[in-house]
Amino acid sequence: MSVERRRVRVRGVVQGVGFRPFVYALAGELSLTGEVWNDPGGVVAVVQGEEKDVEAFCERVRDDAPPLAAVEDVAWQGESPVPGSGFVISASQGSGGRTLVPADVATCEACLAEMSDPGDRRYRHPFITCTACGPRFTIVTGLPYDRPMTTMARFEMCADCAREYADPTDRRFHAQPVSCHNCGPVLELENPRADGSGASLRHREEALGRAQALLARGAIVAIKGLGGYHMACDATDEEAVARLRRRKRRGDKPFAVLVPDLVTARLVCEVHDAEADLLTSPRRPIVLLRRRRMSGDGVQAVEAVAPGNPDLGVMLPPTGLHHLLFRPASPGGAVPLQVLVLTSGNLAGEPIATDDDDARTRLGDIADAWLRHDRPIHVPCDDSVTRLVDGAELPIRRSRGYAPLPVPLPFEVPALLAVGGDLKNTFAVAHGRAAWLSAHVGDMDDLATQETFDRAVAHLSELVSVTPQGLVADAHPGYRSAAWAARRSRTGGVPLARVQHHHAHVAAVMAEHSLPAGARVIGVAFDGTGYGDDGAVWGGEGLIAGYDGYERLAHLSYVPLAGGDASVLRTYRMALAHLRSAGVDWTGDLPCVAACPPDERRVLARQLETDLACVPTSSAGRLFDAVSSIAGVCHEAGYEAQAAMELEGLARDVVEVEKQAYPLPLVAHPSDPERLVWDCGTLVRAVVADVLDAVPAAVVGARFHRGLARGVVEYAVTARERTGLDVVALSGGVFANALLTSLVESGLRDARLKAVRHRRVPPNDGGLALGQVVVGARRLAPSMRPSTGSEG
Ligand SMILES: [Zn+2]
Ligand SMILES: [Zn+2]
Repeated sequence: MSVERRRVRVRGVVQGVGFRPFVYALAGELSLTGEVWNDPGGVVAVVQGEEKDVEAFCERVRDDAPPLAAVEDVAWQGESPVPGSGFVISASQGSGGRTLVPADVATCEACLAEMSDPGDRRYRHPFITCTACGPRFTIVTGLPYDRPMTTMARFEMCADCAREYADPTDRRFHAQPVSCHNCGPVLELENPRADGSGASLRHREEALGRAQALLARGAIVAIKGLGGYHMACDATDEEAVARLRRRKRRGDKPFAVLVPDLVTARLVCEVHDAEADLLTSPRRPIVLLRRRRMSGDGVQAVEAVAPGNPDLGVMLPPTGLHHLLFRPASPGGAVPLQVLVLTSGNLAGEPIATDDDDARTRLGDIADAWLRHDRPIHVPCDDSVTRLVDGAELPIRRSRGYAPLPVPLPFEVPALLAVGGDLKNTFAVAHGRAAWLSAHVGDMDDLATQETFDRAVAHLSELVSVTPQGLVADAHPGYRSAAWAARRSRTGGVPLARVQHHHAHVAAVMAEHSLPAGARVIGVAFDGTGYGDDGAVWGGEGLIAGYDGYERLAHLSYVPLAGGDASVLRTYRMALAHLRSAGVDWTGDLPCVAACPPDERRVLARQLETDLACVPTSSAGRLFDAVSSIAGVCHEAGYEAQAAMELEGLARDVVEVEKQAYPLPLVAHPSDPERLVWDCGTLVRAVVADVLDAVPAAVVGARFHRGLARGVVEYAVTARERTGLDVVALSGGVFANALLTSLVESGLRDARLKAVRHRRVPPNDGGLALGQVVVGARRLAPSMRPSTGSEG
């Protein structure tokens, strides 16, 4: 027999996912001797045994890896065999290099079973975890990923937990957040409003029981989750939901609900099998589902949870604590509420609260009581939001459960930081063939968000060991994110690339689908706003694009945007601007005209005549606003895209039977015959004719969606004729609209064009940073030093 010894290095997401116990078990199975340890580059194993067994080890270490691991690379080198016996797991070693920290993972089945077993020592333990589940990204303070570098460092393990932690055969071996009732975080309920004493309950069952009782009485309870505080209240109580809206200054923006299980989710919403998979996945996102109008079993979220919205965001419990909220305190005890509103603990626009004192200050006027614990949250991480469109995932917000897992890149990039956009800010650090997108940060017009941004950039760069040698930002001269990058560029002497907004959107889809460096596509970028090269507000763009550049082949015809934000919030203003551009009189028979107060109407008319404080816009988001208002659906947007979402909601009810489409002709550009314009005027006149004919708003909505989709397909066919390209990349926030996305994809299929759209990052500005990475890399790489980053 020939004995072989190899030193095997495994890179990827291999720490905090039970990898070393897996290696230990595998070595035992193959009768190998040696050792395994973590270092900042990943996992290293030295194995010795029969040649065929060592060979098998090198294959199976990748193929049979634990479910939460993501093995990027297995490399080995031979060594001279040495005498020895047994296989050991050694202490973590060294510093430098790069390892990958896993994302936070929902409580696994095995832990859930223990938590439900009265005989188990972790029966009803709110913080139960193992190597397969529990907090990760949000508790890591630095590298290497070991207990001292997490916010669990302050909890000294009891003898029982320490034994499990040290036992390579135990499923809690080196599970960093491991704890139990004796040694783990302590649950606490503070209810200052109840008796004025400010006294808190630090007994777990009393705290849970009181929280359930308060919720049942209509109170708003702040609950400390994995990535920040949530606000919870009874989703079946009209008054409680209204109070939460009022206190949170939330307008009509939809809330999500938390339910205990799939069975309850199915009572509240329609859940298809693939949606059930998303709901129960270890990432545990909020999934947008079609709401049931008729109550299933007396379990029904009131309309006010998501007013005027056909969908409802639903989440299953991400942690033991959330599971316990739904369980009676004692066997046979009263069953608590089964549908809770669960919304981020923040005021509109602010980042989610994570620090206990900060939460108490900022959320003091919202919450009646606090259910919390003493395990700190190191970085904020909002819930992720996703949905399914035609069987494929369409992410809306990529955050908890996903961050900081890498997105693979189609080509090598230098060490970069792409700062994203100002709305829904998400940034990315990248190096080699990977980009790490941050958790959802928030809107950058808020000072607290900018501070969160600073900290999050430092944290993520450290976790993935990338020292950015280049910066990428949006081309908008007023973006705070871009100003931040410009300052960092000046002070650090690091080059900065500015990338046009819609070019970045299209490049993001290309990167997601691994299109190679030289690829070009027919791009369609539809969103609310992005700075255009001509200074106009772009947002309805047909681009012929590659990573290296783009040509603007088509755009929605320009309409004046009068007074910026005012016309975004009061959608009737956008409707009147579109009417004026289409040559339609402002007759009081039209709901949008009636919605505009006469004084405002006079000022607006003057503004549009004189072009005072008007910026031309090709925004598809603003076209949605205008049509929604003309059709009488929504005249004022209390939250982003409200008018569009309500129009889509109505349209979805009738679109199967309503096959007509408004005309959106593609005509020659007035000043450049090489280019094209979608003529919105023709479409708007058709909408007006229907509205004056008393055609129902739902039908108007369906005809509008079909018209816009047909316009996109016509552009793609024309672009194919001109360029020979046949891949169409769809991006921008408007493609979070499930109906439009579905209609466009099916139209492109019929025209034998290949559509690519987002599956891994959101189509909205939450995915912008990925596009900035790939475009910025092409622009910056030639001028940057060849050796970049800090990979050891
Ligand atoms: Zn577990
Ligand atoms: Zn313990």
